[in-house]
Amino acid sequence: MPIHVLPAELANQIAAGEVVERPAAVLKELVENALDAKATAINVTIKGAGLELVKVQDNGCGITRDELPKALSRHATSKISAVEDLFNISTLGFRGEALPSIASVSQFQLISQHEGGDEAWEVDQEGELKPAPALAYGGTVVAVENLFYNTPARRKFLKSTRVETSEIDGVFLRLALANPDVTFSLTIDNKEKYSFDSAQGALIETFERRLGQIMGKDFVPNAVKIEAERGEARLWGMTSLPTLNRGTRSKQFLFVNGRPVQDKVLLGALKQAYHDRLAKDRFPLSALFLELPSHAVDVNVHPTKAEVRFTHPRDVYSLIYSGVQHALDAHSTSGSNTNASAVLSAFKVPEQTQFDTRAHTPIPPHMCQQNYAKNTQNYANTRINAPQTPHTYQVAEANAFTTPQLVTKNDALTPQEGKDLADANLQEAESTSAPLGAAVGQVHSTFIIAQTPNGLVVVDQHAAHERIVYETLKQQVLTKSVPRQNLLLPEIIELSEREIEVLEPRLEELTTFGLELEVFGPTALRVLATPLLLGQINPKQLTIDIVEDILNLKSTTTLHSRLEETLSTMACHGSIRANRKLSITEMNALLRQMESTPNSAQCNHGRPTYVALKLPDLERLFGR
Ligand code: ADP
Ligand code: MG
Repeated sequence: MPIHVLPAELANQIAAGEVVERPAAVLKELVENALDAKATAINVTIKGAGLELVKVQDNGCGITRDELPKALSRHATSKISAVEDLFNISTLGFRGEALPSIASVSQFQLISQHEGGDEAWEVDQEGELKPAPALAYGGTVVAVENLFYNTPARRKFLKSTRVETSEIDGVFLRLALANPDVTFSLTIDNKEKYSFDSAQGALIETFERRLGQIMGKDFVPNAVKIEAERGEARLWGMTSLPTLNRGTRSKQFLFVNGRPVQDKVLLGALKQAYHDRLAKDRFPLSALFLELPSHAVDVNVHPTKAEVRFTHPRDVYSLIYSGVQHALDAHSTSGSNTNASAVLSAFKVPEQTQFDTRAHTPIPPHMCQQNYAKNTQNYANTRINAPQTPHTYQVAEANAFTTPQLVTKNDALTPQEGKDLADANLQEAESTSAPLGAAVGQVHSTFIIAQTPNGLVVVDQHAAHERIVYETLKQQVLTKSVPRQNLLLPEIIELSEREIEVLEPRLEELTTFGLELEVFGPTALRVLATPLLLGQINPKQLTIDIVEDILNLKSTTTLHSRLEETLSTMACHGSIRANRKLSITEMNALLRQMESTPNSAQCNHGRPTYVALKLPDLERLFGR
């Protein structure tokens, strides 16, 4: 076949294959055009997951009669005119491809009224111009009907109505979040789904209001502000405390120079900033805005502009990683207050049976125990019932190191001693000004109740202690000083040959963590010492769990996350269990340790370690 230039219609359809892969992409292009036209109000109407109709109405500058047909020709744009402009783009669109592409795969109608004029003109996909009734607010209306009617193959690749609608939702919310000064509405199948007013006032207030509308009302009170700079790049926004999290990334919004992006570098940095505060399958809620000079970012690398390329990707990564981490560190002892409201509603007395003792919400099992139950059957049970000193340890070498391991005291008190102690506790509780207060008791050998200066806290003893052990171990590993305790009788562990092979190169590293192992024949390991901090643990079980961690890790896992994985397994072993009776002294020791431990408001899996109720909350409970 001789070489020939494709007809415009076909060229447009080919371009459409990239630019408009699905209805949400149509919506994105149309709303971006409205924003580029400086609209202050944008109404979106969707029918049939966007296949029947995507309509965007704006009150922007509009298009003049003479230019209307041009808007539909390929590579026709009012936004750039020379090569240099491509490196200094301040608009969302610039390629002049969207309208002709969309028009080539749909039944298309565009009505526009140029600002200052009072007559509206309509153009269809053939570029035919005819007068239209004037628009009440001026601006532009674009209606896209029967999308992909002439490209059935493309329709086949679309997902379910639900999935396509949720994509539309996501695109809409991203654009609305990035433009809090614009009024937005979204109507799907004749029902108004969102309506966001633009608020007057300082940018930060309008932004927080829009955030509340999009992220939920819990977000702002449970999020931290981010403000960071690195070289010419600036990062700002808000991100949730680890205790407020989701099972998906649907509430993670990232913007580069006001443009919503789904960039792997940025998402990766965000994830990494939370890596030891959240379980792997939980995600923070975030709205992060990255501002860079235009020479430091190329937005012309992706057909739908969803990805961008940075001149210095490492700098951007560190800016986000450390910016988010520092903001979280600054709030690392506060937990989310939604927990308090959850507690409050759980406390509500049921109406008919006033003192029904079953009126409590079940307590979710610990995630780490769940994991163990999965990995090593019935581990959680064996652990709890294990005798206190099942293994023989050599007396630990003396060192100037304070262990967070709790010492059990006052097991057998006389009644008088008991009463004195109770009085002393009460006095302490009354006078303490420590943020987590003074312990007044323990319930179900699992939760500690403490009186604080302005209310009470309930602490999950296992979750809290686990965090403390973890943070202490981490510190010890960082300063290369993990004290070990030697086993008098080394434990032998049988493994497969392959397992030994994988493990052998890691043994030295494990020793620096305080776990000393030695290969003992082709299919066995010997445990010689365990980290002192963990106390009297079952060395065999600990080793098996850590071996499992290592075998499960992908080869791509960074050293850093490997380290954290190992530490968190160790911490889970070394921490006090639920179902263990504690003395008041032990409880207070735990509270004080929590106060001085970074990140103590959540365990290593992102669950809260305590909930706090303020006096006014308590008063509300009793209708005072
Ligand atoms: P691009 O946005 O890349 O310039 P488009 O194909 O999306 O290309 O739009 C072509 C041109 O049509 C734009 O450059 C702009 O001048 C005009 N246009 C499109 N939509 C609107 C709108 N809603 N309001 C005003 N002008 C618009
Ligand atoms: Mg455009």
